[in-house]
Amino acid sequence: MSFVAHRSLKETYRKAVRGEGIYVFDADGNKYLDGSSGAGVSCLGHSNERVISAIKEQAEKLCFASSVFYTNDPTEELAAVLAKGAPGDLKYATFGCGGSEQVEGALKIARQYHVDRGEPSRTIMIARRQSYHGMTLGTLNVGGHIGRRQLYTPMFAPTHLIAPHYAYRERREGETAAAYSLRVANELETKILELGQENVAAFIAEPVVGATNGCVAADDVYFKRIREICDQYGVLLILDEVFCGMGRTGTRHACEQDSVLPDLLVMAKGLGGGYQPISALLISEKIINAVKDGRGYIANGHTYMNHPLNCAAGLAVQQEIADRDLIANVAKQGAYLRARLEESFGQHAHVGDIRGRGLMQALEFVVDRETKEPFPPEKQLWAKLQKTAMTHGLMCYPNGGTIDGIKGDHVILAPPYIISEAQVDEMVEKLEKSVAQTIN
Ligand code: PMP
Repeated sequence: MSFVAHRSLKETYRKAVRGEGIYVFDADGNKYLDGSSGAGVSCLGHSNERVISAIKEQAEKLCFASSVFYTNDPTEELAAVLAKGAPGDLKYATFGCGGSEQVEGALKIARQYHVDRGEPSRTIMIARRQSYHGMTLGTLNVGGHIGRRQLYTPMFAPTHLIAPHYAYRERREGETAAAYSLRVANELETKILELGQENVAAFIAEPVVGATNGCVAADDVYFKRIREICDQYGVLLILDEVFCGMGRTGTRHACEQDSVLPDLLVMAKGLGGGYQPISALLISEKIINAVKDGRGYIANGHTYMNHPLNCAAGLAVQQEIADRDLIANVAKQGAYLRARLEESFGQHAHVGDIRGRGLMQALEFVVDRETKEPFPPEKQLWAKLQKTAMTHGLMCYPNGGTIDGIKGDHVILAPPYIISEAQVDEMVEKLEKSVAQTIN
């Protein structure tokens, strides 16, 4: 093999040759149910005719036209589609190729906003432990994934992390959900005061935490309090919906369910469904106005920004989702999936928590469901489960190990939005067999 493979998968690597609907086929003819949309990407499943035609049509017209010189139709149309469905005043979109690129963009624009408004001392970004925002240096610096960050820590400015919203383990005895949420949200205020509000630029969080913590959503009051704190201290709120956005949780944007409006909203995976690499950053009117009064342009341009072919694919994916009312199917099949998981694993001796929203659901594994005792790192199930599930024809997304402060491991199910009830049954049955074999 002359290319570099993804570290965690090297022992289970297969050669994928074809995809159809929610299934992927390998070179040996094996069929896998795509129970995780890869890593939360393939929202329309594989080989969608409409998206393929749109890509072909655009490729014949124009693949690339540098955003230094041109705008183009697919970019303008996709921006209009996103602005129409965007919450609040998030009416400006910029497109890139990956999630990390747009998170970096959000961090840089947050900094620029303060400088352009005459508050240049605001440089610090606050993030949460057990969060994931990407693999570039800038995004690792706000990531709470110790394992991925530690090699580079000496190169960074100090990272400022607060507690995540993780009620399963962190709630004190007798503490209500609301009291817990307020307590952890208030850590942001404490941190801002400790650092000096005049030094803090932004707070970044995933509304529903993906890979690092296994589909953890916040309680109602959490993000309301976070927004209040940000407003009080002039700190921008960046929400990273790379994993949980674009319909994955049953609404177009995950933050709609938290009744919170960010200043910058990042999306990627489900935007293009894997057909072309595309990500987007939605920017609020408030920021655009400050930039207009300041240097007059956003200081963030990449070569493949607003790429015509990528935007054409994203546009077709979004039109297909709208025409087939697929976000409603996410809500419906998500509720069914949750019920099936409760039925199959609700009393399982080693499943401590079943959680998530829409088609983004996870099981947390424990030694003992009463005490919530996690498996020690060397006995965690996730890595073995990944391999076992592949032998049962199931692609799922387990994680655990060396992540900052996380005690335990989990598996995520995040299938394509087109999944049917019968296919949810098939997926859960495969997971049952895989978990049983992994534990024995
Ligand atoms: N943020 C979140 C929440 C993610 O899940 C990911 C990817 N797993 C990223 C950012 C980074 O995206 P990319 O890998 O496309 O750079």
